[in-house]
Amino acid sequence: MIILIEGVEIYSPEYKGIKNILILDDKIAYIGEEKIKIDLPVSAKVIDGSKLYAFPGFIDGHVHITGGGGEGGFSTRTPEIMLSDIIEGGVTTIVGCLGTDGITRSMENLYAKAKGLEEEGVSTYIYTGSYRVPVSTLTGSVMKDVMMIDKVVGVGEIALSDHRSSQPNLEELKRLTADARVGGILSQKAGIVNIHLGDGKRMLNYLIDIVNTTEIPITQFWPTHVNRNPYLFKQGIEYAKMGGFIDFTTSSDPVFWEEGEVKASKAIKICLEEGVDEEKITLTSDGQGSLPQFNEKGEFVKLGIGKVTSLYKEVRDAVLEDNVPIEKAIKCITQNPAKILKLRNKGRLEAGLDADLVLVEKESLEIDAVIAMGKIMMEQKKLVKRGTFE
Ligand code: ZN
Repeated sequence: MIILIEGVEIYSPEYKGIKNILILDDKIAYIGEEKIKIDLPVSAKVIDGSKLYAFPGFIDGHVHITGGGGEGGFSTRTPEIMLSDIIEGGVTTIVGCLGTDGITRSMENLYAKAKGLEEEGVSTYIYTGSYRVPVSTLTGSVMKDVMMIDKVVGVGEIALSDHRSSQPNLEELKRLTADARVGGILSQKAGIVNIHLGDGKRMLNYLIDIVNTTEIPITQFWPTHVNRNPYLFKQGIEYAKMGGFIDFTTSSDPVFWEEGEVKASKAIKICLEEGVDEEKITLTSDGQGSLPQFNEKGEFVKLGIGKVTSLYKEVRDAVLEDNVPIEKAIKCITQNPAKILKLRNKGRLEAGLDADLVLVEKESLEIDAVIAMGKIMMEQKKLVKRGTFE
């Protein structure tokens, strides 16, 4: 398959000006000003990029791909994700995780779902474990899972500072992190520890304790939901200034904002104003997780489901409403997560890397086309490729 995108304005995520992009099979073969003439006896797709921006395909590092929830009983377990939900959000790389429920949701099921989505065209990875410590793994050991199973890039989401946490002690958490780290070093993977933070008053303190009392670097952790309340958000800014990564969750219903939650687009803006290093900020959707919805009186109405499409929506809001420069905003869902997850072929538009691209309309920043591993998944706002059962 050959795709040629002509005269498109590129954010790699840095601004690169107007260029032509040639995609051969699943890789970006060329990006440059040279006019490309295809004279081969094979079909080539030519896209006019004059009204479009090209961004790297988005990376969503925290999605409950097999479904999440269940906190309101078995009927509140959310369903598996569909390919179309991922593609409509411009996401071309996804990391699947379990959540509160590590009993009826298994690692085997998570792995199988990730393999299925990969067959359908997107790049997928998983974390080993769930909220709970000790961690349920595939091989019986965190280190072995990270080293021996290609899809496993780390461990998580481990719940801390939350009433649903298994309340691990500091020593247990140190050992777990060390195992993920060493497994990662030995296999050239991230071995990242994805941390779910609740509303508890201990906030990020456990992680700071580990960094202060061991040789483990602060970058071994990727704490998420940091925008869930103003206190955690404030400590998150300090934590990022210490060199840590902070992740903001985009999946929440703006009509039913939880008290004090900081909207992800605003969180980016505030962090940049506060002098946080732009490479430390990421967004993930928490897609397919359960979202309790309440009416104006604060009464429970129904359970919503987190959407992967919220990821880019917040980036778009950051640009259009909060005046965050495009390249800084899209970094949070492209280059930054790629670096954290050590996905060397992802997160940038560069010759030689995987052909994962999102084309958006210049004025509205609405997604026009999505290309994943060199295949057109969405074109002129219409899904080209649907999942097996859609
Ligand atoms: Zn979580």
